[in-house]
Amino acid sequence: MARLDGSLLYDLAGIFMPRRCAACGQALMRLEQGICGDCVEDLPRLRAFDHPDNKVELIFRGRVPLQAAGAWLQFTKDGMVQHMLHHLKYRGDTAVGLELGKRMAEEAMASRRFGDVDVVLPVPLHRRKLKQRGYNQAQVLVDGMCQVWPLRQAGTGLLRVVHTSTQTRRGRLARWGNVKEAFQLADPGELRNAHVLLVDDVVTTGATLESCAKALLHVPGIRVSVLACACA
Ligand SMILES: [Zn+2]
Repeated sequence: MARLDGSLLYDLAGIFMPRRCAACGQALMRLEQGICGDCVEDLPRLRAFDHPDNKVELIFRGRVPLQAAGAWLQFTKDGMVQHMLHHLKYRGDTAVGLELGKRMAEEAMASRRFGDVDVVLPVPLHRRKLKQRGYNQAQVLVDGMCQVWPLRQAGTGLLRVVHTSTQTRRGRLARWGNVKEAFQLADPGELRNAHVLLVDDVVTTGATLESCAKALLHVPGIRVSVLACACA
């Protein structure tokens, strides 16, 4: 329900203003969702889901045992991916998140290493931030993914148990300390023996995803993979 607040505002705004592409700002055609056709063509795809040495995999190697890891797009400062994710996170533009999730899923589900995932889980947002923003951007990506990929969504999923202050300008060590032990699983039983895909919008140092994966790995028989919309 919380997610509706942001998207409802966006829908209302669309009555008075043309809907615009979250990447280039051009007015969208009627059937385009979130991103215009030209920008969809130009998305900086990494095409590395099948490579066991892709750069996201290297971020986590030696830190946490993952089944597979990958990012879909290359994030660059002031680039189109940054614009799209900014719209998703700070402007209530859930349409772009659903569209990105859907297109990311189409490529991930076709890859050998993500093909047998059965449960999908977004990295949770802290309650306080969820209240401010009205929705979790990673959940919006997951909702888009589930439009094309028949994955089970874990009921309650991961809970963030410690409030983490804004992390953007901190170094990797400080961020790790800051988010350490910040997650726990509400119902570990429902993930027993599952291959779980953890989803986030951007992976930079990987500290948050690492912390989530470590919480999940307490479940017997679980395998954990990580998928990010973009890699910085
Ligand atoms: Zn565009």
